[in-house]
Amino acid sequence: MMKRKKSHNFREFFILVKNDNNKSNAKAVCICCSQNVGGLAVAQVKPECFTSNKARLCRNHLANCENFKNSYNKEEIAEILSRSVPEDFKKKSKNLNEGKFY
Ligand SMILES: [Zn+2]
Repeated sequence: MMKRKKSHNFREFFILVKNDNNKSNAKAVCICCSQNVGGLAVAQVKPECFTSNKARLCRNHLANCENFKNSYNKEEIAEILSRSVPEDFKKKSKNLNEGKFY
């Protein structure tokens, strides 16, 4: 098993950088965005290119990210966005009868 202590299902699409404003929570910079704007150094200061390193927020970013959508095909995007986030499990265990996906 690989060590994946703090990582989540969307980690592979983001580069983590230190967040000076919030030391406990790294910035997750979108790799597709950073490629589009010309590099990590640019992307990490553009609010639209990064999010907090939380699975749900990362998925939200990808769901709205044009650069991500341009980098993958429909099937890949559907698979990636259907990956679970820990917050989903919490919600689901409370509402077992609810079959809705968002
Ligand atoms: Zn992005």
